[in-house]
Amino acid sequence: MDLTIDSRILEEVVEHAKAAYPKEGCGLIAAGRFIPIPNIAQSVSEFEMDPAELIKAFRELRTAGEELVAIYHSHPHGPLRPSDTDIERAYYPETAHLIVSLADPKHPRTAAFRIANGEALEIELRAIV
Ligand SMILES: [Zn+2]
Repeated sequence: MDLTIDSRILEEVVEHAKAAYPKEGCGLIAAGRFIPIPNIAQSVSEFEMDPAELIKAFRELRTAGEELVAIYHSHPHGPLRPSDTDIERAYYPETAHLIVSLADPKHPRTAAFRIANGEALEIELRAIV
């Protein structure tokens, strides 16, 4: 199991993470596009996707017959792996989770994980052109 993303979409996601800084950015990644979702969490070390926007995005994807490939959020200061909270709140076990770390703001790093049964397993992330 791995995660393959169009490199332009991956760039968009990284730009979104930078724009959301110092808060966490979040959103959905479909096969052909990135859908940013507002983070309504007040904390800078947590994210909570706006439920109304999330429902709207899921409906849009379904209508367009597009597949959700990953859920993304950023770690403005944090490590390049899911936090305990991320693991606790991973409601979509079939979906890959993409994390963007801005711990070094000049060199954003990305990694993908599968989170199921209280465990996070890193999977291969491939950017294609
Ligand atoms: Zn996180």
